[in-house]
Amino acid sequence: MEENMFGKKEGFDPDYDLKLEESLAKNEYPAQKIAQANASEHTSLCAKMCTQEVWNKYKDVKSSGPAKWTLARAVNSGISYPESFVGCHAGDKESYDDFSDFFYPVIEAYHEGFSMKEGSKLEGTPSERMNPNKISVDLTSSAEEKIVSTRIRVARNLSMFPLNPGGTKESREKIADLMAKVYAKIDTDSDLAGDFHLHTKMSDDERQALIDGHFLFRGKDRMQAASGYHEHWPHGRGVYLNKDKTFVNWVNEGDHLRIISMEMGGDVKSVFSRLSAGAKAIEDGVREISGEEEVFTMHPKFGAVTCCPSNIGTGMRGSVHILVPKLIETIGFEEIDRLCRERNCQARGSTGEHSEVIDRIDVSNWRRIGFPEYELVEDMIKCANFLAEEEDKL
Ligand code: ADP
Ligand code: MG
Repeated sequence: MEENMFGKKEGFDPDYDLKLEESLAKNEYPAQKIAQANASEHTSLCAKMCTQEVWNKYKDVKSSGPAKWTLARAVNSGISYPESFVGCHAGDKESYDDFSDFFYPVIEAYHEGFSMKEGSKLEGTPSERMNPNKISVDLTSSAEEKIVSTRIRVARNLSMFPLNPGGTKESREKIADLMAKVYAKIDTDSDLAGDFHLHTKMSDDERQALIDGHFLFRGKDRMQAASGYHEHWPHGRGVYLNKDKTFVNWVNEGDHLRIISMEMGGDVKSVFSRLSAGAKAIEDGVREISGEEEVFTMHPKFGAVTCCPSNIGTGMRGSVHILVPKLIETIGFEEIDRLCRERNCQARGSTGEHSEVIDRIDVSNWRRIGFPEYELVEDMIKCANFLAEEEDKL
């Protein structure tokens, strides 16, 4: 059997295959799984909003966009894994409106305070709002000492392609081809200049080193696999890295693009400023090569369209990796996360979403919509300051 870099023939690796949950595969209402999720303390937005009424309304509907998305596909990860928090995905931009009785309540529940009726009233463009001079709070010296690294990313999708859960091997490869051209045009003197590496051409060792350095997605996330993110793996997947590995782009992990700025230490403004310049360079580059005026998929009500409703809007997640060993020991990760949530932030494990705490904790803004990017960065700074202060009390 021909083996790919993950040791399995593409399409045969059970960790990457898309499997529909039993009832969903028959296009039947997954009543038992939904009841199970709703009975647990953990809130699954997918289970909560996928009521029998919503199911009956949409079960035979296909989205009007290129993915011909269905409710069964949209809810598969949350129904397969009732412990997921959001658990649903759009296959194309149209899915959000075509299944509005399902997606709008999910959006409003996740992005508390945001109303789909009113929509987002943010002023200016993302690059205007990603102005480091607008950040009005600083990290305390105590927080700064505890910060290992800072990373801010935006999720973006390209308007000429379906979102990846509804994409094909061909659409993924076309995206990678387009991005290769965009990267090749970045001025070699610029500090954004670097190289694009395709997963199909990377060795296992190279890939692992990038994952260990926090530069690359781990893959093999079962919830992501259930959304269809991992289909046709590893085709069309890649990572762009500038020379210092401070400007990074993920291509086709889940969203078409994750535009990332990161560096060691806690210079949040420097990271934010590079992100702003980098995101603009990518947008301009895609516009020039594709000839499309609207480069990134945008929704009139909420802004950037992403596969997961948690990321819509600004698509921005700013995080610091912070060392608070005494706090972890005394109150534990769950309680730290709860305290972060009270501050419009979230805690993740040491290697990202759904990971364990090894040493550091990833603290990031929870909200992504209705607030300018610089305010979301301020949420993160304030939360890091708070955790540092709590650590110092122990
Ligand atoms: P995203 O929301 O961007 O998908 P994930 O939680 O999936 O983030 O994590 C992606 C990767 O980014 C992981 O390797 C994670 O450890 C890394 N990462 C996140 N925040 C930071 C940070 N502040 N410094 C260094 N690496 C980070
Ligand atoms: Mg992720």
